[in-house]
Amino acid sequence: MAASPLKNTVFIKMKIFTDPKQIQQYVLAQRAAGKTIALIPTMGYLHRGHATLMEQARPTAEIVIVSIFVNPLQFGPREDLDIYPRDFEGDCRTCEQAGVDIIFSPRMSDIYPAGFQTEVSVAEITRGLCGAHRPGHFNGVTTVVAKLFNLTLPHKAFFGEKDYQQLATIRQMVNDLNFPIEIIGVPIVREADGLAMSSRNTYLSPSQRKAALSLSRGLFRAREAFKQGERQSSILQQTVRNTIQADADRSCQLEYLAVCDPETLVEIEQIEKVAVIALAARVGKTRLIDNILLP
Ligand code: AMP
Repeated sequence: MAASPLKNTVFIKMKIFTDPKQIQQYVLAQRAAGKTIALIPTMGYLHRGHATLMEQARPTAEIVIVSIFVNPLQFGPREDLDIYPRDFEGDCRTCEQAGVDIIFSPRMSDIYPAGFQTEVSVAEITRGLCGAHRPGHFNGVTTVVAKLFNLTLPHKAFFGEKDYQQLATIRQMVNDLNFPIEIIGVPIVREADGLAMSSRNTYLSPSQRKAALSLSRGLFRAREAFKQGERQSSILQQTVRNTIQADADRSCQLEYLAVCDPETLVEIEQIEKVAVIALAARVGKTRLIDNILLP
């Protein structure tokens, strides 16, 4: 096992691996001994949303692994890779409290050594929504997740519905490439006032945080309209838009807003049974995403 980079902190039950080869050898031995493994891939700066994934994973497997890796491949050149928040010690505490067995926190050069040249790319489902605004993002996600799957050999992997297109893309990849892994989606965990929890919320000033509330409020209003019988996407979208634009200082700028089929993510005009309303918005420089499943 690799030495913990933490000084003065002992995590009695939890193992911390940084070396890809070592964790792979470890999980191979555990699988040979008949142990079941669950993986939760993260970029760290863990909050209650992440902890919920861990808590859901805990009873489903004998070994729960959380990976913490800020994956440069999924950030665009003008995105927040350099300032992405990090708190490894706090993350270790969160993981230990949730009963996690292993943290895998590799170095960048171990995941992408010199000469690395393979990319995993999922086509159709990554084209719209975030994919249209973050070129290369989902290739970065699928490439690193495929690597994490091969390094930790999980039976199950847990992903949040917060990143809805990511979850749908991973399901597609697992299906297309026959990974023997069950993908489990976990509903969005929100703050008491409705804001979807995100590591990026830490970028928001108090006034921006207040403005960001109009995103979830808009989605909740659309859900109300759906409950009242509204099925036309354009009207549900207008409900969301009106809520966001009613915000006095208009500091939320929508990047996209779409009503889609929850499996294919193809946009729909009229909702038959189910749909997802997904959006991305800029609040100041911070890009936030949120969505809601109907019904
Ligand atoms: P991240 O560290 O942002 O890459 O997220 C790691 C995992 O946690 C992803 O599967 C996310 O969808 C999930 N996640 C992040 N925030 C939330 C949330 N508020 N509720 C549920 N899952 C979340």
